[in-house]
Amino acid sequence: MIKDRLENLYKELSEDINLVAVSKTKTVEDIMNAYNSGQRLFGENRVQELTEKYDKLPKDIKWNMIGHLQSNKVKYIASFVDLIHSLDSVKLASEINKQGEKINRVINCLIQIKISKDETKYGVSFEDFDQFYKHINSLKYINVVGLMGMASLTNNEDEIKDEFKSISLLYNELKLVDKKIAHLSIGMSNDYKLAINEGGNMIRIGSRIFGER
Ligand SMILES: *Cc1c(COP(=O)(O)O)cnc(C)c1O
Repeated sequence: MIKDRLENLYKELSEDINLVAVSKTKTVEDIMNAYNSGQRLFGENRVQELTEKYDKLPKDIKWNMIGHLQSNKVKYIASFVDLIHSLDSVKLASEINKQGEKINRVINCLIQIKISKDETKYGVSFEDFDQFYKHINSLKYINVVGLMGMASLTNNEDEIKDEFKSISLLYNELKLVDKKIAHLSIGMSNDYKLAINEGGNMIRIGSRIFGER
């Protein structure tokens, strides 16, 4: 099942799209099924689950932290995390930088932008972005390689499209001035087609690969 769903996605997606298989709550067996189909990029949203899976699974997996990250937990993943999608505060940035310095490892991050009006969504506002970005760029052990956004929980496709458009605009502006910027992480199982249409090149797909959680 997992293998079939993944292979259908591979067929559908063009080569420039990075597929992050979101394996939160799923077993190591499920992840190995995806791994054996060639998948190497996996996303988790909880630190403890991520470190446990990292310990048990092949070391060529690229682990992405996609969920809200508490500063006090950065130390558990700093040595191995491939990409943090959810850099959203000065406090978190300081801690990532500090942990990176300790082990002399530059950590790749996406700045999470608040594109949704939902109260619960984390992220840096468009208003605060310039100042935040300037600050992050002064930190030696953080390498910002793009932006991440989560659309509102709604069935209104126009609303989702507008939210993706807004982050895509910022992404394209940023790319012009910063050559490290390469990833726009938008789109999940239910909205990845809209995301790709709006210029997303990194999608985070859970249920469409692994089934409902
Ligand atoms: C769970 C999760 C996803 C994947 O969601 P699906 O709808 O299962 O594809 C993507 N991004 C984040 C940040 C998540 O927490």
